[in-house]
Amino acid sequence: MLVYIAGSGAMGCTFGYYISKYTDNEVIFLDNWDKNIENLNNNGMKLTGKIEGSMDVRAMKPSEATEKADLIIFLTKSVGLEDMAKGVSHLVDKNTQILCLLNGIGHEDILVKYVDLSQINMGVTVWSAGRDNSGDINVTNIGTIDMQNIGGNEEEGRKIANILNEANLNVTYNEDVMKAIWRKLMVNGTLNSFSTLLECKVGEFFSLDSHAEIVDELISEFIEVAKADGVELDKKEMLDYIYKTSVHTKDHYPSMYQDLIINNRNTEIDFINGAVVEKGKRYNIKTPYNELITKLIHAKEELKGSKLF
Ligand code: NAD
Repeated sequence: MLVYIAGSGAMGCTFGYYISKYTDNEVIFLDNWDKNIENLNNNGMKLTGKIEGSMDVRAMKPSEATEKADLIIFLTKSVGLEDMAKGVSHLVDKNTQILCLLNGIGHEDILVKYVDLSQINMGVTVWSAGRDNSGDINVTNIGTIDMQNIGGNEEEGRKIANILNEANLNVTYNEDVMKAIWRKLMVNGTLNSFSTLLECKVGEFFSLDSHAEIVDELISEFIEVAKADGVELDKKEMLDYIYKTSVHTKDHYPSMYQDLIINNRNTEIDFINGAVVEKGKRYNIKTPYNELITKLIHAKEELKGSKLF
């Protein structure tokens, strides 16, 4: 089986490494960043942190790849997804399955322009990794992946889950993957957004007097919009999950903070709080907290002159 990693950054490299190392499948790493491709081809891939290892890999631009894909795993940032989906469309035929593991919601609306719904698997992961200046990948959490074929093609979805489990990626075929995606969305839409806006660690935001009311209002909006979108979430369960996560991650600066404050790159806010605002409009639900957060993050991007990628 030929697997393309579409977006070979921190997460793409981590998952591609595991698939190459533990299964017989061929993996090709796609990216549009010349320096990254050159580094992967000339120096190989090096993983540090929770897993130590290195291997030679093949990397190229999407336009340079020619063989049809059996599986394409999308791991760009949200802002790069449409461009990547277009860029790999020549690698897709009717037997190709795709798996999208980006943070946020609404990615399937982009992907369905390029492939049939029965070829789309959506997922969410709590693995985590970062890429340092030399290109090495620092794996910071050995996590899990929840995934499901959202076009009713369970047989193909389960085949992918089995392959990724063979690769030791700890995958669950989740028959209600949208619930898992929304659950992580809420964590990202509170911890990540406020840590970035206020330029503070997760625990610092959760120690502020104002945090409880903000989190409560925000989560109410998420839950109302999710329900209108067909995803039932329990408010108490979601708040417990968010507070528990805030304790584990109290000393962390989340990935949105890393993107905007450290790396001066645009955030994925339009696929997190912004996506809730857009869905809310569709269902005639007001989302003032999500709307303000989205606008403030965009204002901060503008002030800092952050780059798209
Ligand atoms: P990253 O920035 O390290 O990697 C993204 C890669 O995609 C980059 O190498 C970039 O050059 C490439 N890319 C982007 N657009 C492209 C395009 N149009 N064509 C070709 N290449 C393109 O990002 P990451 O940290 O690996 O995150 C990927 C996704 O996974 C994001 O949605 C993120 O929120 C999610 N996620 C990340 C983590 C984490 O710990 N890093 C954890 C869970 C989920």
